[in-house]
Amino acid sequence: MASGGDFPTDRHGWAELLPERRASEPLRGDHRVAWAVIGAGVTGLACARRLAALHPDQEILLLEARLVGQGASGRNSGFAVAVSQFSGGVKPGELDNCRRINRINRAGLDLLRAQVADNAIDCQWREDGFYHTAADRKALAEHGHFLRYLEALEIAHDPLDAGALAARLGSAHYRAGVHVHEGALLQPAALVRGLADSLPANVRLHERSPVLAIEKGAPPTIRLARGVVRADNVILATNYEATKLGFLRRYLTASTLSGSFTRVLNDEELATLGSAAEWGVLSLHSGGATVRLTADRRICLRNTAEFSGGALLSEAQLAARQAIHRAGFERRFPQLAHVPFEFAWSGVEGISRNGTNFFGRKADNIYLAGGYNGSGVSRGTAFGTALADYASGGRSALIEDCLASAPGAWIPPRPILDIGAFLTVRSRFRGVGLDR
Ligand SMILES: Cc1cc2nc3c(=O)[nH]c(=O)nc-3n(C[C@H](O)[C@H](O)[C@H](O)COP(=O)(O)OP(=O)(O)OC[C@H]3O[C@@H](n4cnc5c(N)ncnc54)[C@H](O)[C@@H]3O)c2cc1C
Repeated sequence: MASGGDFPTDRHGWAELLPERRASEPLRGDHRVAWAVIGAGVTGLACARRLAALHPDQEILLLEARLVGQGASGRNSGFAVAVSQFSGGVKPGELDNCRRINRINRAGLDLLRAQVADNAIDCQWREDGFYHTAADRKALAEHGHFLRYLEALEIAHDPLDAGALAARLGSAHYRAGVHVHEGALLQPAALVRGLADSLPANVRLHERSPVLAIEKGAPPTIRLARGVVRADNVILATNYEATKLGFLRRYLTASTLSGSFTRVLNDEELATLGSAAEWGVLSLHSGGATVRLTADRRICLRNTAEFSGGALLSEAQLAARQAIHRAGFERRFPQLAHVPFEFAWSGVEGISRNGTNFFGRKADNIYLAGGYNGSGVSRGTAFGTALADYASGGRSALIEDCLASAPGAWIPPRPILDIGAFLTVRSRFRGVGLDR
């Protein structure tokens, strides 16, 4: 159940499937440090790791409001993307921007691959790309756009017809698709826990340590319920919750997504799911379902998104959304209609009105990266790493790519924001039809 307070958590499936983990102690007392990173999702973990390497003689404080794995980084669908999809077709003049975004994605994917391998992180990492699929009219139009974009950018892919998709995925639901070779699937909670538990020795992580306020100044002061930190440099890696600390209030908002997992499939059930041992399907409709056959033999399907003021769904709301998950599941896998769901979960993603991401200096010695519009596993890793370099005075091609993110579009204050956000999220489902 979603617990109350400003930083709610709940028993979401991805973390439930993992063994118990010993959390770090909350921060108490007064501290003076060179670097404080706030938020231990993929962005903050990547940033802290890089800062530790750049400044081996300094201590990096990493403050996390919840337990590691309870934020979006531990409850996403587990697609570490190399190649982003852009709805509505890409015009020739926009191709350079797409190349820039894909360079950032690939940089993040390379970093994650190395970190997972170097630290032997057991997170079901599998790098075999993804299927991008279409079942209904609007997604079929996107299929054509997507193929032209992949060809223009010379990205390796295999177009697949309905028969080829059915043979690989065990679902006759899709009418057309593409297999893009790059991209990794992973267990998100296992990834972030593994990253947190393998941080360099000069990173000090404190969980259950919500930052309540940041006072600008030299140095900035960070206030917690039972402690105060004065840090020469502060990095905000708090995703959409940066707004609670007074940053990006007019530029960043949140969308709440939800999905379900089946129980573990038996051999007979698994045999109906085609030739691919494990797979991930992204819808070519931006409001369509994300579906996976996981390494531990479950089907995982996410197909709702809504504006709920940055909150997780309550148990009652989640139970109601399960009917939507169920319908999407049975449409795709009628042969598995008898298989029950075992977990349902929700999570909150940071979104901007114009789909941009945020990177850079926000005030003297205060830096921020975040807001990846539902595609932040690899991109957040790249942004977090680049932000550590940037805040340390470095320059690199990756920093230039991150700095080239378009400025955020203005979001009106509440309650107009709520109506606008509600309509924006609803418009995401226009024409989704059978792709939901
Ligand atoms: C259901 C769902 C499915 C998704 N699927 C995918 C996917 O398949 N692929 C993909 O690339 N992306 C996906 N995303 C998006 C992706 O999860 C995010 O873009 C990414 O995790 C953002 O990482 P982050 O580190 O910036 O933020 P987060 O993971 O949100 O981490 C921010 C952390 O900051 C902490 N925090 C916030 N405020 C404070 C404070 N005041 N004090 C201390 N700590 C604080 C939070 O507790 C949190 O742990 C999905 C998101 C959701 C919700």
